[in-house]
Amino acid sequence: MRGMGDEARSLAESVLVRDRAAREAAVAAHQQALHRFPELAFEEHRTADYVEQALRSLGLEPKRGVVGTGLIVELPAAGTGPTVLVRADMDGLPIEEHAGHDPRSEHAGRMHACGHDGHMAIVLGIAHAVCRSGLEQALPGRLLLLFQPAEEGGAASPSGAQRIVASGLLDQERVDYVLGLHLWSYLPLGQVIIPDGTVMASSDEFRIVLRGGGGHAAVPHQASDVVLAASELVVTLQSIVAREVDPVRPAVVSVGTLHAGTAPNVLPERAELTGTLRAPDAPTRELLRRRVAEIARAVAGTRGLTVDVELGLGYPPTVNDAQVAARVRDAVRPVFGEGVLSGPPTMASEDFACYLEQRPGAFCLLGMQDPAAGAIHAHHSPQFVIAPRALPLGVELLLRGALALIEPGAGPIEGDARER
Ligand SMILES: [Zn+2]
Ligand SMILES: [Zn+2]
Repeated sequence: MRGMGDEARSLAESVLVRDRAAREAAVAAHQQALHRFPELAFEEHRTADYVEQALRSLGLEPKRGVVGTGLIVELPAAGTGPTVLVRADMDGLPIEEHAGHDPRSEHAGRMHACGHDGHMAIVLGIAHAVCRSGLEQALPGRLLLLFQPAEEGGAASPSGAQRIVASGLLDQERVDYVLGLHLWSYLPLGQVIIPDGTVMASSDEFRIVLRGGGGHAAVPHQASDVVLAASELVVTLQSIVAREVDPVRPAVVSVGTLHAGTAPNVLPERAELTGTLRAPDAPTRELLRRRVAEIARAVAGTRGLTVDVELGLGYPPTVNDAQVAARVRDAVRPVFGEGVLSGPPTMASEDFACYLEQRPGAFCLLGMQDPAAGAIHAHHSPQFVIAPRALPLGVELLLRGALALIEPGAGPIEGDARER
């Protein structure tokens, strides 16, 4: 006999228990296949063909052409409950993969070094689980699977998520909740972090160019000195985090490049600095952006220089809805037990943030550090490999989380607990 509390969980478990061995083999095979042909942002044509074929073999009819190379598919369900969008990112990176890997990228200079091949395999595993469960008619709400191009963007052009939000897809598909994960090599296998608020930081880039008259190094009083001003600027920018950001909020200002001058006895006319800003929430992000520009202008002013400041707009902070996060943590505790954590956040960034600005949802970090499988290397390293054991855990995590959000009786999630 099951108690009342087991009813909701029993649907997820019933779905997951059927065809388990075949599903786990399929998920492993999908990751290995996708790993062989990584493609860069908005070039994921072969990847999209593969994903479409895998979904069609389950009897599904995915829609292609989501902001170019993306796909979306609705899983069969009879219920009229909430709609949950589960997202996988599709793109690889411009990295030459380590020669000893098997499977290894067959595209020279391209590599799935962030784990997005694993994310796609996991979400295909959700499709497999639902379609082979015989329980589609028991699903109380809609599950949409989104395969999103171009997560590895930057400030230069809009990413896949930024374009999808701008396209109005969340409204057209009547999405109530969004759910996603990242395999996380910095966390041991079997742990999962689902914070109540900030999961990841915003990431913006800046470029500052100082210009002055320059002159002979022997007569500095007749010249203007961009090198001195640039040096003051590097030091003064650090005072933003040290003296202006709330000390309990993590924030980073980093100057990554500094270029000026051609000779020891010449005061140059131009100095250029570039760097990045990372913040855990929108107000801190705005503070960093505003103060970098103000300090650059002030330092230039005191030295009689002109200054150009460019602030690129990168990804916003990734901020979970506290109630959704709590519900997903409860749903996955039967699998991860004490491994379910609510923090800490990381200063990396993610374009899933754009969905979370629009809808309540949760982004989960799934530990995949597994020394026995060689899964010890950082994301974006040529040595990066996914721990095979993490893949079925990813299916458990996202499917249990998604079903918990469309459960009848769980009630709507009230208000909007997101930190903005
Ligand atoms: Zn990445
Ligand atoms: Zn990634």
